[in-house]
Order: sequence, then C-alpha cells, then structure tokens
Amino acid sequence: MYIPPLEYTAPATLAEALTALKKTTGAVPLAGGTDLVVMMKEGRAAPASLVSLRRLSELKQISFDGDAVALGAGVTVTQIERSELSATNPGFTDMVRNMANQQIRNRATVGGNLCTAAACADIPPILLVNDAVAVITGSNGERKIPLVDFFTGPRKTQLKHDELLVSVTCRAKNRGTSYIKFGPRKVVNIAIVGVACALEMDGESIATLKIAVTAASGTPLLLETNDLMVKGQKANTEQWERVAKQVVEHLSPISDIRGSAEYRLELAQVGVIRACETALLRLQGGADA
Ligand SMILES: Cc1cc2nc3c(=O)[nH]c(=O)nc-3n(C[C@H](O)[C@H](O)[C@H](O)COP(=O)(O)OP(=O)(O)OC[C@H]3O[C@@H](n4cnc5c(N)ncnc54)[C@H](O)[C@@H]3O)c2cc1C
Repeated sequence: MYIPPLEYTAPATLAEALTALKKTTGAVPLAGGTDLVVMMKEGRAAPASLVSLRRLSELKQISFDGDAVALGAGVTVTQIERSELSATNPGFTDMVRNMANQQIRNRATVGGNLCTAAACADIPPILLVNDAVAVITGSNGERKIPLVDFFTGPRKTQLKHDELLVSVTCRAKNRGTSYIKFGPRKVVNIAIVGVACALEMDGESIATLKIAVTAASGTPLLLETNDLMVKGQKANTEQWERVAKQVVEHLSPISDIRGSAEYRLELAQVGVIRACETALLRLQGGADA
C-alpha cells in the first residue's frame, strides 16, 4: 500500500531530534527504514511523523577504547563488517554474514535492530554475550542499562516515546565468540533459531561461558557461567551437550510459519553445541570466521 502523506523532519543535532520526538505524539525515529518503512507499507505501523536520524553523525561512529567498543545506534551492519571488530571478535563476522543481504546490511542499523526488538533479531545475541550495555538519552538525561534488560517483550523495549538509543557498548576483543543461525534459506534469511557463544578458557578448564539465543523466546535469552554451572569444567562434547540441554529448559518458543516449537528446541540444542565447538576451535587458533 502507499504510505499516506506525513510530517518528516531530519534534525541536525541529537537535542533537536529529542525535541522533535517530544513535540509530536506519535512521532517515531527513522534510521535505515528497513523495518519501519516495510511495516508502514504493510499498514502495520502508522506514525504521525518521522524524525530521521540520518544527519546525526554522532550516532554513526564506532569508537574503540581499550578492550571496549561503542557502536553508535546509527552504525550499519556493513560498518561493523568493515571495522576492526571482525578481526578481534569473530562472532560479529558470523552475525554479519548471516544477516539479510548486502543492500539491507548497507542500511540496517544496530539501533533499528535493537529498537524493533523482533524476537528473531540477529544483532542482540552477539552483543549480549559481549556484555553489552545500552546507552539511552531523553529529555531527562542519559541512562545506561544492561542490554539484556532493554528488551521487555516481543517488539517491546524500555525506551520511552521521547527517548533515543544512542549507542551500545560491549567487549571489542573476544576471540572465543561465535554465532550460529538456522533459517529456512541460505540468504535473506529470518532466523528460526540463532545462538551466540562467548567462551574463555583457563588452560584446559572453562573460565567463562555465555550463551544467547534468539527466535526461541519472546525476548533474547542470555545465560552466563553461573547459570550454566561450567566454571572449572572441561570443554568437551559431553559438556556442550549438557549445556545445550540446560539452555533449552529456559526457552519458550512459538510455532509459526518458519518452524514448530519442538523443531526450534531441537535446533537450539544443536546450535548451542556448534556455537561452543566453534568458539573453542577459535581459541585454539582454528575455525576462522
Ligand atoms: C529483506 C529484509 C531482510 C532482513 N533480514 C534480516 C535478518 O536476517 N536479520 C535481522 O535481524 N533483521 C533482518 N531484517 C530486519 C531489519 O533489516 C533490521 O532489523 C535492521 O537492523 C533495522 O534497522 P533500520 O536502521 O533499518 O531500522 P528502522 O527501520 O529505521 O527502525 C526500526 C525501529 O527502530 C526504531 N529506531 C531506530 N533507531 C532508533 C534509535 N536510535 N532510537 C530509538 N528508536 C530507534 C524506529 O523508530 C523503528 O521503530 C531484514 C529486513 C528486510 C527488509
């Protein structure tokens, strides 16, 4: 369907963007438009006005600070692909390669992916296993929340109407990361299930393990070392199978056009095992992303 005429502004500063959002009830931020415009054309979203973020250069930066990185909300998936992160944190490369196609990746932003909060989104899992924190700003100032708490339900977040996601910070260097995605096709593929892993070893024993799963619950699931009871344990197939069984107990998938709930649980188990195996191989110098 055609989108009916509506108000559109493209503020030059973050302050102006916040004012524009506050001024009009039903005003909505527009980033790459790969979710929002599609929803508008399908009649699933009808904002009163659009506040474009395209001129806000401060949202488009990737800034490294020691072991941490801040990804501006307006950073595109292609920017991630071309950044140092691809070399220092291979799970990001897995995510990029598994997301949409080149045209979409050129426009799709980190902020858009997180704020849409689709239950099948590909960016949250790899951020979650890298200790991500969301930086939000609004007329009442800035607040930071762990990304895991940002999502409150399918397509729901903690963001208020007059707030913007500014950036997300996470670990930049993490060699033992991976993202395994199962979808109905090889490209332009919406996840049936996606599993991210971040593993650190202390010699032959597991030091830390984080697993995040998308598309198998209303919000992305994050389980950490203590939840998984793996500290000091051996890293082997039996261990990954045990971890996988534990992870699926926390999932509550739906059945839909892409797969049944039972199928998703099976895939999640396989995904956890493969993600852990890949992360371990990378720590040992193999399985390049
Ligand atoms: C053909 C196709 C294939 C796709 N494949 C995938 C895929 O494989 N994996 C996947 O995860 N997604 C996929 N998507 C979905 C989409 O591309 C991503 O979710 C993308 O990251 C959205 O970013 P955007 O910049 O286009 O967001 P937009 O569409 O501009 O915005 C999305 C939502 O976020 C809000 N928003 C955006 N930025 C901010 C901000 N800074 N602060 C507050 N709110 C904000 C907007 O108001 C809107 O509600 C696909 C989409 C298409 C059309």
